[in-house]
Amino acid sequence: MCATPQSSKSKKKLSTSVSAKSKLILKPGKEKALLRYHPWVFSGAIAEVIGNPQLGDTVPIFSSDGQFLAQGAYSPHSQIRARVWTWLREEVIDTDFFRRRLQQAIKRRQAVATASENALRLVHSEADGLPGFIIDRYADTLVMQVLSAGAEKWRGVVADALLDINAGKQIYERSDVDVRELEGLPPRAGVLRGSEPATRIEIVEGKANPRHYLVDVRGGQKTGFYLDQKENRSIVATLAKEKEVLNCFCYTGGFSIAALLNGAKSVLSIDSSNDALQLARENLRLNNLSEDKAQWLAADVFKGLRELRDQGKNFDLIILDPPKFAPTSQHVEKAARAYKDINLLAFKLLRPEGVLVTFSCSSGITADLFQKIIAGAAADADIDARITMRLTASADHPVLLSFPEGDYLKGLICQRV
Ligand code: SAH
Repeated sequence: MCATPQSSKSKKKLSTSVSAKSKLILKPGKEKALLRYHPWVFSGAIAEVIGNPQLGDTVPIFSSDGQFLAQGAYSPHSQIRARVWTWLREEVIDTDFFRRRLQQAIKRRQAVATASENALRLVHSEADGLPGFIIDRYADTLVMQVLSAGAEKWRGVVADALLDINAGKQIYERSDVDVRELEGLPPRAGVLRGSEPATRIEIVEGKANPRHYLVDVRGGQKTGFYLDQKENRSIVATLAKEKEVLNCFCYTGGFSIAALLNGAKSVLSIDSSNDALQLARENLRLNNLSEDKAQWLAADVFKGLRELRDQGKNFDLIILDPPKFAPTSQHVEKAARAYKDINLLAFKLLRPEGVLVTFSCSSGITADLFQKIIAGAAADADIDARITMRLTASADHPVLLSFPEGDYLKGLICQRV
């Protein structure tokens, strides 16, 4: 155990430590976003901080003319100076509040979860009214990311509530991410509640043709697995029958295993992480798939695609699922060039009638811009293609209409004409 459970005494202290006298007052006109339920207050919108709120304290937020707008968590070091917990003035932000929000999030998931699948995103930050909290479930293990000052303050309370409502048996924390620095928080990873998770947790996803994956929640990327691509892996699988497939940025073989289980002729998978490829090979065996049809290449995709081009290779189905090239809007130009580069190369490797499945998980790249980049890549490759489907994150990753920043994953399935 690396964290002490919250005692009932300290729980009480937490709910009363909310400084009743502190408040944020916005500049004239800056209330508009909050009135439309956008859950962030940027530092530039604030006229005055009254009182002395500390990192993560709950503060009421008022317009310049004294209208109550919301209650949010104060984050003195971040550009996002407050994140909204509630739009209600009377709602108390305490243990019961978090318990209610967790129960609601879990209830919402019942509509999208199936009995045969045992991996799910239980809490998706703003979209579940719990900004700063990401909670994924892999079998009995919950993996939690605490990404904001407000979430940091309540992490023990949320962990206890999760166990109380039987959301899982143990909780592992993976708050070892760069964004915490912006909140003035150090990285942290380790057991939060219960025992150390197994080095490999087996999950099952996909309704029609179940796929088994091993997840390393301690050493893997993010919380261990990319659950946002769950439904897209099922869709791509249906395109793979008897096809020669290239899966770029394959991680632990998510799309590769899906394609092979659906009768792909062969899959060449590329990733720069040897650890990920090791797990991918284990996943191949776990699904009783033939080693002959799968080839794993540890390489930089930018170089790998050029080598495949120079070797005159072609494929029927190519998947590009790169990491976030544009974490913020400041990186958009450079990211756009990188997306164009790999997509142009992929189009050149595509046989006539071949299919490219291409993703961007950058919040800074809008769906419109992404489509323009892909169109530019096709034009420069001197081919035409039709979009046959648009893809987004799985249903357990909801998006608030008021918070388009949350709509990070965009995918296009393009068939070469
Ligand atoms: N499609 C995967 C998730 C991909 S995540 C799934 O369904 O699980 C992005 C992957 O890109 C990571 O595994 C990371 O190791 C890899 N990566 C990042 N930069 C890379 C590069 N330049 N070349 C090859 N792989 C890279």
